[in-house]
Amino acid sequence: MTARLIDGKALAAELRNESAVRVDRLRALGIVPGLAVVIVGEDPASQVYVRNKARACEQAGVHSTVHALPATTTQAQLIAFVQRLDADPRVHGILVQLPLPKGLDSRAVIEEISPAKDVDGFHYESLGQLVVGDPGFRPCTPDGVMKLLEHEGVALQGARACVVGRSTIVGKPMALMLIHAGATVTVAHSKTRDLASVTREADVLVVAVGRAGLVTGAMVKPGAVVIDVGINRGGDGKLTGDVDFASASAVAAAITPVPGGVGPMTIAMLIANTVRAAERRAGIAARMETRIA
Ligand code: NDP
Repeated sequence: MTARLIDGKALAAELRNESAVRVDRLRALGIVPGLAVVIVGEDPASQVYVRNKARACEQAGVHSTVHALPATTTQAQLIAFVQRLDADPRVHGILVQLPLPKGLDSRAVIEEISPAKDVDGFHYESLGQLVVGDPGFRPCTPDGVMKLLEHEGVALQGARACVVGRSTIVGKPMALMLIHAGATVTVAHSKTRDLASVTREADVLVVAVGRAGLVTGAMVKPGAVVIDVGINRGGDGKLTGDVDFASASAVAAAITPVPGGVGPMTIAMLIANTVRAAERRAGIAARMETRIA
């Protein structure tokens, strides 16, 4: 079998266009959706992500401002900075690029963002809304994966899903979203015994670990849908996922590439959330408000 390629780049472009239409509607009311991105320190990968996010925002008509703070920034300075952004009416969404340099407490910083501006969906309130299935901002990466699965017409009700990775940013919210969609979900992580026996059970396999080639074709159920969230930069500078694409695509029914799969979807969801934050502030009810998980 040769797997169908799930084109995240194309779907992300469609979603960005949808956001651009909503931005036009807001601009007609004199509102320019604004995203403030805070990056602390010199992590090169984070700088690339932040640049990509800012570029995509501008293309969709969202005004984005990147605030690059030095690695020497203290916790108190960072919190004061985020508080100022939170009080700024031109800012509809705030994103603090993670990970923060050692010594800074990201949780304490995120809690300074109002839930109404928490477009990354990491605030306790947003995460709580996800747990119970109430409307709220969802973490962008797993939300983007759900959009991809929906667009591909993947039937999740009753499906066996496996999420490899249990971070608060990707793995755990991913598992919750799949549960809400009616899948029977197994979450694997570094302590999981015999990972292959777990992944081979999955009709839908989502891998978010950060280890190039961790999941091979032998670990994939024939006909499964494989979503590779991982981003790993090889010695040659090339990006690869956590799934060995060559062997897995010979077994799976459908698979996301890296790059061009989940990555662009994350950014598209961030833009959609920022537009939604601006719409909410303007009192425009978004269709998504009634959605469960
Ligand atoms: P974390 O490092 O926070 O979490 C990694 C998870 O993988 C942990 O739960 C860890 O288990 C688990 N793990 C580590 N080794 C193994 C193993 N050998 N077998 C099974 N599980 C293992 O990473 P993130 O969740 O933040 O990111 C994961 C990947 O996704 C990274 O490559 C990151 O770059 C990428 N990413 C991509 C995004 C995109 O837009 N495409 C967005 C965000 C992240 P344990 O908890 O036991 O330590």
